Amino acid sequence: MESVTRYVKSLFLWELLKGLGVTGRYLFARKITVQYPEEKTPLSNRFRGLHALRRYPNGEERCIACKLCEAVCPALAITIESEPRADGTRRTTRYDIDLFKCIYCGFCEESCPVDSIVETKEFEYTFEKRGENIMTKEMLLAMGDKYEEQLAADRLEDAPYR
Ligand code: SF4
Ligand code: SF4
Repeated sequence: MESVTRYVKSLFLWELLKGLGVTGRYLFARKITVQYPEEKTPLSNRFRGLHALRRYPNGEERCIACKLCEAVCPALAITIESEPRADGTRRTTRYDIDLFKCIYCGFCEESCPVDSIVETKEFEYTFEKRGENIMTKEMLLAMGDKYEEQLAADRLEDAPYR
């Protein structure tokens, strides 16, 4: 009986009709293709893009050079050097992230006790020259200044889960 059914189905091109049915269904369904880069999909507050170093509202950098992020980084992508300042506080003199090594795991962000090193939603970047893969402290602070409003808002929204 089974072979007869199979024969009839093949005679009437049943599988082909089934496939065309699926095509027809999607032909009139709502399109979900996004016209990137003109259109963007929404990103989670926890999206892990390019890094940034944040400041306090008075402009003072948050990082206290504890080096927890450097220690926890599984890819050894972070290099920190530090010195005490004249007022006795300790600050970094060098804070580099090698983006070729970084795996965007977010461990640095999780480990930071003062919410200094964070990952932004910025994912559109390219490197054209040798050495552009290194994000220096100045670049990281500039990223923090640029995205501070968004970073603060994301953290406020996610507060119950942190
Ligand atoms: S995101 Fe992960 S791999 Fe990248 S710098 Fe931070 S800890 Fe290292
Ligand atoms: S970014 Fe945070 S974890 Fe890393 S050295 Fe600075 S204070 Fe410590």
